[in-house]
Amino acid sequence: MSTKNIEVIVPPREPHFVGDGFRVHNFIPSAYRLDMQRMDPFIMLDYNSRFYFPPSDKPKGVGVHPHRGFETVTIAYKGKVAHHDSSGGGGIIGEGDVQWMTAASGVLHKEYHEETFSQKGGEFQMVQLWVNLPAKFKMSPPKYQAIANQQMGEVELECNGGKVEIIAGEYQGVKGPAFTFSPVSMFNVKVNEAGEASFDFPAANNTALLVIEGEIEVNGESVVPVNHFVLFENKGEKFHIKSLAKSTVLVLSGDPLNEPIAAHGPFVMNTREEIVEAFQDFQNGKFGHLED
Ligand code: MN
Repeated sequence: MSTKNIEVIVPPREPHFVGDGFRVHNFIPSAYRLDMQRMDPFIMLDYNSRFYFPPSDKPKGVGVHPHRGFETVTIAYKGKVAHHDSSGGGGIIGEGDVQWMTAASGVLHKEYHEETFSQKGGEFQMVQLWVNLPAKFKMSPPKYQAIANQQMGEVELECNGGKVEIIAGEYQGVKGPAFTFSPVSMFNVKVNEAGEASFDFPAANNTALLVIEGEIEVNGESVVPVNHFVLFENKGEKFHIKSLAKSTVLVLSGDPLNEPIAAHGPFVMNTREEIVEAFQDFQNGKFGHLED
């Protein structure tokens, strides 16, 4: 076993708005060295860093849009989102909860600030991650997993260091509830000040973290401030974090699918022909129906 060193620490890019409700820094795929091939199977990561939205009578968000070929995972840290899709899925994602939507063969989707949150306004902080699907599952039926915070696996860290919430994968023998189509680990690490945690993933996995709150030290040498993203090398297995302030860290690790990627906007397939087909199916109403 050897140390998994940092390959690059990526600061947040200039934010942009997705619709009028999500003010995001894109990390994957637009940041330097975080392209889809490198981050496989994580093909998109938009991060709405903590941002205050004033009260609004009309919920802000993003209107009806399609997805095909992958899964969208929304992790709520602050605020609440309501969403609906054309396969009949939908619900409210509250603080600490996760919505794991398998778009697969295709859904229409819309995502808005939840109505009461919208009326009151408040701090909003979310991650939306797209997890690619293996070719053989890209056209399987859509499905939806609502993962409430209390359903997540939980491991207490030593010395009152905090806890690891397991959304997907396994940490110290405790499994997360998410069903995944390829091996994916996704943890929220909530570390108290001076709390420490160690992680162990196969060297070949693509492994990264995002500091959601606080500040951490990685492998006893690199300080990573809030809203910064860390990509690890594909060498070594183990890394260690220590919090320099009470921190929340999203840890991601996945087996690369190593399949061709053809991506255009909301469609991520394996070939250009499949992208053309996705546009045709979308235009011909094959993604179902969803009221705006
Ligand atoms: Mn969507």
